[in-house]
Amino acid sequence: MHLYNSNYTADEGRWPARPFWPPAQVSPLLGSSRAGGTAAQVDMQASDRYVRQCLLPEIGTEGQQRLARARAVVVGVGALGTVQASLLVRAGVGETVLIDRDIVELSNLQRQCLFLERDADLGTPKAVAAAEALREANSDVSVTAFVNDLTPSNADRLLASADVILDGTDNFEARYLINDVAVKRSIAWIYGAAVGTRGSLMPVVPDRTACLGCLFPSAPRRRQPTCDTEGVLSSATTLVASLQVVEALKVLADRLESLNTRLVSIDAWTGERSSVRADRPEPRCMTCGQRQFLHLESEASPSVRLCGRDAVQVPGGDRELDLAGLAGKLAPLGEVRSSEHAMRFCCPPHELTVFPDGRAIVKGTQDLALARSLYARFVGN
Ligand SMILES: [Zn+2]
Repeated sequence: MHLYNSNYTADEGRWPARPFWPPAQVSPLLGSSRAGGTAAQVDMQASDRYVRQCLLPEIGTEGQQRLARARAVVVGVGALGTVQASLLVRAGVGETVLIDRDIVELSNLQRQCLFLERDADLGTPKAVAAAEALREANSDVSVTAFVNDLTPSNADRLLASADVILDGTDNFEARYLINDVAVKRSIAWIYGAAVGTRGSLMPVVPDRTACLGCLFPSAPRRRQPTCDTEGVLSSATTLVASLQVVEALKVLADRLESLNTRLVSIDAWTGERSSVRADRPEPRCMTCGQRQFLHLESEASPSVRLCGRDAVQVPGGDRELDLAGLAGKLAPLGEVRSSEHAMRFCCPPHELTVFPDGRAIVKGTQDLALARSLYARFVGN
């Protein structure tokens, strides 16, 4: 059976070697552990780790072996992504790739379950902090961290070799980008979103189910509620992420006949649930019907306001920055905290977190021009 760019041959029951991940050109930003390798072999007789999962007829020993050879990519390691990654790694998915652009903050700890107070104190990048925690949870599998934005210029490279992609993002721009790559490459992905006490999810299996563009040809024009304005119940995000992982495991364990091919909305507080059918591709869809990948072909926006944060991201133009040198230069001007992953500079009421590729998050404003001006002043052009 031909599936979504999976690199395995189900008929022959064998898995060819995968290309090395991540690509060498992004290595400076990566924290990587390949403990056990991508082809982590699960000896079902010898290992107790997955015994309860193998007992499930829905997974079984064969499904477990498929998981061990699979690669999942989690885009956005926040409230949804930390739960997704935790469940996937603990379930024995052979390789989990984490992509996130942000750092851990105290307000994340209420729901982003892989992070600790020290991560918020140090301002550790979320992908790095999550990967470190997950490697301690399961050293049999591989966890790779990628600290950056998903952009039109890197999305294809980062997502192309996934067997399934999980949406842990907080914005439509990233979701349409994921949808473009997924449809183009025939990779399954699992949409998810949550705010307040409600959330929704939908698996997208190209050529088989509706894609994001089939249901929503364009992003909503009205300003959407965010966790910042509406608040968020941790059980709502945990519930949605958990259900997303259920659909991802069906994809990875080759149980597609069980997919819940609906856009499901659920309220964690009231228990109300509703859904709409999403089981057929729409022939008029620009993405999966006409195969036009407009989001993938677009230019990355120069600066963006970060959802749920009083912060703006300023891109660095993929240059390599001497963080130690910059820290030395800024030290006389304000408090500087450095790590190998990022440097934080406080200039009240603002705070700049600068990454090795020159990208920065300017906290304390939603004004794009002001953020760019602070960047130019303290980091340079
Ligand atoms: Zn479509």
